[in-house]
Amino acid sequence: MRVLVIGQGLAGTLFSHVALQRGWDCHVIDAGLPSASSVAAGMFNPMSFRRVVEVWDAQAHLDALKATMDDFSAILDAPFLHPLSIRKRLANADYAAIWNEKCADCPWISPVQFQDGEANYGTVTGGGWVNLQSLIPLWREHLNDSGRFEKRTFDVSESATEWDVVVDCRGLAMRDAPAGIPLDLRANRGEILTVGHDSESHASPVPQDLILNFGKWTLPIAPNLWRLGASYEWHREDFASTPETAAFLHDALESELESPSKLKTILHQVGLRPVSRDRRPIVGPMPGRPGWFVFNGLGTRGVLIGPKWAQNLADQIEGASETPVLVDPNRLKF
Ligand SMILES: Cc1cc2nc3c(=O)[nH]c(=O)nc-3n(C[C@H](O)[C@H](O)[C@H](O)COP(=O)(O)OP(=O)(O)OC[C@H]3O[C@@H](n4cnc5c(N)ncnc54)[C@H](O)[C@@H]3O)c2cc1C
Repeated sequence: MRVLVIGQGLAGTLFSHVALQRGWDCHVIDAGLPSASSVAAGMFNPMSFRRVVEVWDAQAHLDALKATMDDFSAILDAPFLHPLSIRKRLANADYAAIWNEKCADCPWISPVQFQDGEANYGTVTGGGWVNLQSLIPLWREHLNDSGRFEKRTFDVSESATEWDVVVDCRGLAMRDAPAGIPLDLRANRGEILTVGHDSESHASPVPQDLILNFGKWTLPIAPNLWRLGASYEWHREDFASTPETAAFLHDALESELESPSKLKTILHQVGLRPVSRDRRPIVGPMPGRPGWFVFNGLGTRGVLIGPKWAQNLADQIEGASETPVLVDPNRLKF
């Protein structure tokens, strides 16, 4: 099977990996545009904190994530998956009561004893992060070394008849130049900081060995280095970083800690998450374009769910799976 993958962010990386695993002749083209994957924190979490429930098919998605990252590590000889527990601030007694009720249904959390007047936390297992800023360039280099990568903008009005199948992994760029019938894909804008602490003698109170979630979050990525994020904004799509958002994130962290964090911003980045209106991924045949498939909508929990859906898309292409209704691109036709 000859497969062309357009775009090599998270989606194109995961799909091209599956295609090569299956022995297909796979070629990847990427334009080098600003991508969501290049700024993403790469976190995954089997719990949703809003309603304190396990996320969609958590164990199956985690299993696929682990198997995929193990394989990338074997091929590229580098670690990408970093399991970490998540310490979640329990805002009040009512939330703690819901947390304790849900422990019976969720293997990832255990009960806490809520103490009035103190900061209370629950712990989540099964979380962590994937280092996308290392994985994506290393995979590109690997593809390039075997003559499977090309850096250029693919014009989707071009015919691509020399390929058996085209898989469109262009993220939000798919909106601007639809390859088939336009789909309802939305942009959610996020700002994220990389923050550091330069003194060995006075340790920062920000945890180095877990993800701290206080509505916003800190993710340790190296000694004395964290990501601090993130914002979520609709109806705005520029890439200008705003000092107000940086101040807001720092303030949120300072009010969480008992002593000053002593962290300075090293990098302030902005990205646009590709999100579908029902927050499910978009995985299946491209409406109105025979031979084309879509792998998109990874802006909601993309790191966790992406590996399983990359496999499912390959199953669809092979004819081993129907397109599941939940992820069918047809549901998003305008
Ligand atoms: C601030 C921020 C934090 C995030 N944190 C997390 C997180 O912690 N966990 C999580 O699961 N998700 C997170 N996300 C979401 C996640 O980053 C995205 O869902 C995911 O990276 C999207 O990947 P993608 O490959 O679909 O799109 P993109 O990463 O945007 O990649 C699209 C690629 O297509 C290429 N392209 C576009 N048009 C063309 C063309 N015509 N020809 C050739 N190539 C083309 C571009 O160059 C680009 O490389 C975050 C996002 C943001 C913005």
